This record gives sequence, C-alpha cells and structure tokens, in this order.
Amino acid sequence: MGEPNVIRFAEKVILLLDQGEFTATYKYAVLLGLMDLCLERSERDGSPPDVLTTDQLARKAIELYWRQSQRFAPLHDRIPLQNRRGQAEILTLITRFREQHAPDPNSTLFRAKLHDPERFEQLVREVEWKLVEMPLPKLQRVGRELDPFIYDISWDDQIRRRMFKSREFDNRIRFQPGASRCLVALAGVLRPLVHRHWATRVTQLNSLQESGLDEFLFGADRSALRPVCPPLLELQGGRCFYCAGRIQAKPQVDHFLPWARCPDDGLANLVVAHDACNRQKSDFLADAGHVASWVERAVHHAQGLGEVAANACWPHDPQRTSSVVRSIYRRLPDDMRLWHLEQKFVPIDRARLTAALTLLPDLAS
Ligand SMILES: [Zn+2]
Repeated sequence: MGEPNVIRFAEKVILLLDQGEFTATYKYAVLLGLMDLCLERSERDGSPPDVLTTDQLARKAIELYWRQSQRFAPLHDRIPLQNRRGQAEILTLITRFREQHAPDPNSTLFRAKLHDPERFEQLVREVEWKLVEMPLPKLQRVGRELDPFIYDISWDDQIRRRMFKSREFDNRIRFQPGASRCLVALAGVLRPLVHRHWATRVTQLNSLQESGLDEFLFGADRSALRPVCPPLLELQGGRCFYCAGRIQAKPQVDHFLPWARCPDDGLANLVVAHDACNRQKSDFLADAGHVASWVERAVHHAQGLGEVAANACWPHDPQRTSSVVRSIYRRLPDDMRLWHLEQKFVPIDRARLTAALTLLPDLAS
C-alpha cells in the first residue's frame, strides 16, 4: 500500500467526525490525542512516529479532559456532561481524582500528579482501559464497516478487562503507512474542526448556548501563567522576547508556539513579551529570527529554565516542545508568511530556520 492521499485521508477523518454513533466525546479526544502525540514524538528529522501506545494515549486524554473536568458557570457550576446518559466515565474518573488530589479548582494536572504519583498511575490505567474498550476499536467504523485507515490494533470491541490486564496484551497503536504523516500535515486544519465538533456535541448534551464553551473546553488558562512571568522576564534580562525592548509595565506570558496550534503550557514554550507585542503576535507562528532566539534561549538557558520550572512547580518537557517546533516548522509550505513584529509578516527564511533547528540539542536520553 502506498502513501495515502492527504485530501482523501482528511475526507475520511471528517466522515468519522460527522457520524453520530458515539455516545461519549471520546472519539474527539482520541483524534486530538493521536495528532498531538505525532507532533510531540517526532524524530529528529521531523518524521512522526509509526507506533504509539495506549498508555501514551491515556496520558494525553487525561491532559485533554483535565480542564474540562471543572465547573462551568453558565451550567450552574456543574461539570458539563460528555455522554448521552450520565457522565462519560473518563471524566468521572478524572473528577474523582481531582477531588482527592487537587481540590483547588485551579490546580494544574502537573501538581496533582506530583501530589500522588502512584494514584495518578492508577488513573492512567483506568483511563487506558476505557480507551481500549470503547473508542479505539470503534473509531474507524463507518456504519457497520471497519475501515482501519489510521491505525491497526490487535483487539476488537469484544475485548475483556482481564485480557487488557494480562501480560500478553499488545498495547500498540500501529499507524498505517503514511497515516501519522497525514495527521501531522493536517493538524493545523483538523484541530479547529475537531474542537468545533466537540463543542457542538457538548452543547447538545447539556442544552447549552455555545458562547463561552469553546474557551472553557480548549482555551489557554492565562491567569495560571502568572507565577512564571517574573522569573522568565529576569531570564530575558527584562526585555521583550520579540522586539527586545525593555518591558516597563504589564509583561505578558506568550505561548511561542501558539496555543491554537499546539496546546503546550510547558515552560520551554513560554516567553515574556510586551502586552502589545503579545497581542500582535496573536495566534501566528513567529519568523525564523524568533525561532533562532528561541533555540538560543533553549540552549543557553537550559539550566535557568529548569530552575524556574522547579521553583514554580511548572511542567517542563523541553524535548516535547522542541519536537513540536521542529515538526511544525519543517513542514511549512514555502509560500507561508511568518509573523515578524507589529503588523509585519515575512517569507520563510529557510536557511536561517534550518540552521537554528540544527542547534537544537537532542534531549532524548
Ligand atoms: Zn515587544
């Protein structure tokens, strides 16, 4: 079998999104999870992985559902339902974990994990089982037909829990040839589409108005970024990451890779900028010069960043962020324009970009 045609692949994914067989919202989580993992686990040359595991997917699903397991004000402070009857089990599992280990509603997943790593691993196993049992064998079914065009797994929907728990269980999600490449190539267009479908589904399940729901389900939690602002600004010598001017007031923490493209709150993805520069950069990708400064910071301030993360108890996975930066920038079309400063956009400086990305250390150990 040759490489799939990207457009054909996209059409099939859209077909999966459109069909309404699912009672819970898991299929969205699985699609986004696979996409994110392909970006995060890309090789040094930018090629995505051929195989993922259900364990990796479970951790990703917990990340995705974490912010969604909060109370939503327009719903009289209830947690939005994500299943036709009662709550989706994965959300119930996460809610229970949150109540015991992170009663503060603003607590990050990272902190809750540190609070009781053992119990967190139990949660991962439970969520993994739910994914194995429900969405993974069913996702690629259109009507009665199974069309495994994204991945192959070694079990079907008849799987029993004891089989999952046995030593022989093969937890691999093996991508079809070219499928992970398609997911990465399409991530920029599929992500907002999956968000849209997901939000619409939650709206229906809760008889809600859609306003504000997108932000609740997928938005970046900006206020939570405040604790890392002063130490990051200090690391930047008190200057704006983008224009290098002194920041006198209202410093803003910016996601270097825009949140809309890749939800990564890891410290390596955070920079401090003027309020205005932050607003102008918006959800755009920064140009090659900014990538070079970002790589330079990652290399020369590796230790400083590690210390800021440790002091603020902040997630820091430079390998993951580097992998996504490489993955996204290597794949940009030649005629794409990148944000420079203010309202100015520039063509891709491929040579500078490649030179910068080559300096990025391979942090895998
Ligand atoms: Zn600035």
